[in-house]
Amino acid sequence: MTTATHPTTRRLSLLKPTGHLTLGNLLGALRPMVAGQARADCFFGIADLHALTVPHDPASVRALTRELATLLLAAGLDASTLFVQSRVPAHAQLAYLLECTAYTGELSRMIQFKEKGAGVASTRVSLYTYPTLMAADILLYRPQQVPVGDDQRQHVELTRDLALRFNNAYGPVFTVPEITTPAAGARVMDLLEPRTKMGKSGADGAGVIRLLDPPDVVRRKVARAVTDSETGADAVRADRETKPGVTNLLDILAACGGSAEGTATYGALKRAVTEAVVAELEPIQERYAELAADPAHVSRVYADGAARCRNVTAPVLAAAEAAIGLG
Ligand code: AMP
Repeated sequence: MTTATHPTTRRLSLLKPTGHLTLGNLLGALRPMVAGQARADCFFGIADLHALTVPHDPASVRALTRELATLLLAAGLDASTLFVQSRVPAHAQLAYLLECTAYTGELSRMIQFKEKGAGVASTRVSLYTYPTLMAADILLYRPQQVPVGDDQRQHVELTRDLALRFNNAYGPVFTVPEITTPAAGARVMDLLEPRTKMGKSGADGAGVIRLLDPPDVVRRKVARAVTDSETGADAVRADRETKPGVTNLLDILAACGGSAEGTATYGALKRAVTEAVVAELEPIQERYAELAADPAHVSRVYADGAARCRNVTAPVLAAAEAAIGLG
């Protein structure tokens, strides 16, 4: 995910349609996004172009894009500008100009490429160049700050380097964003491997709660969650080092508004977690079902969002084109 804020008022995040959204995505990303709507003019996008850098199934990208689009609305992001990246052509257009700004040396050093693609003849060129697309995603919206976790830092540093290089060579087109550290959000761990993040790439796993899991599936997954062999009166307590499973369950319970009071056993704790998670997901799933029954409404929201993004980004793209010698 890319996240950025405009001078006091603009916020931008993109989510990749590469899997089913999880409870981790809800607590760590969607919920802060919903809260952010009151303080900023928010742009939330589905990064479908970024889903094409590795072998992909077209039908699956389309279906996950649709599911994600509907879920963002169901989660309460209706006060934001919602869009699908490929429907705003400026992203791909500016990415090309930034490819003409970036050096092969710096793209070769990007972690994703180094880990997943370097030296493999069938690596897609886009896995090598996607950081320029990510830079375009950010620079088109002229944010002054980009809050990033450690995993995204390298991308935003490259974005700054490209913006500075472009501005120095062709004129002051881009706002060079500052990198800031986001407030620590909830971090949800896998129920079966509680030292690993609950991630959407593992969303078929029994340790991952999907946002669209029905209550009985949530119950089954929580019931199988790893705890430990401690018994006794104070077994239900947080200790990230020695009791990662129990700590994760307590964190999830608290984040979903539940209380561990009266949960003297792991069984009772799991029942409380199930109840809290089901209650958290229920309104989202109900809204999702309503929206899924009215696909024309969802399409309209995203068409309006893309139109607004085209308006907002057009002057930035036009300035970049003029500066670099096009038109
Ligand atoms: P990803 O699904 O990894 O592309 O991440 C999309 C967004 O969801 C990012 O803002 C992540 O920080 C957030 N996120 C993903 N998984 C978790 C998790 N297990 N706990 C908290 N936040 C998460």
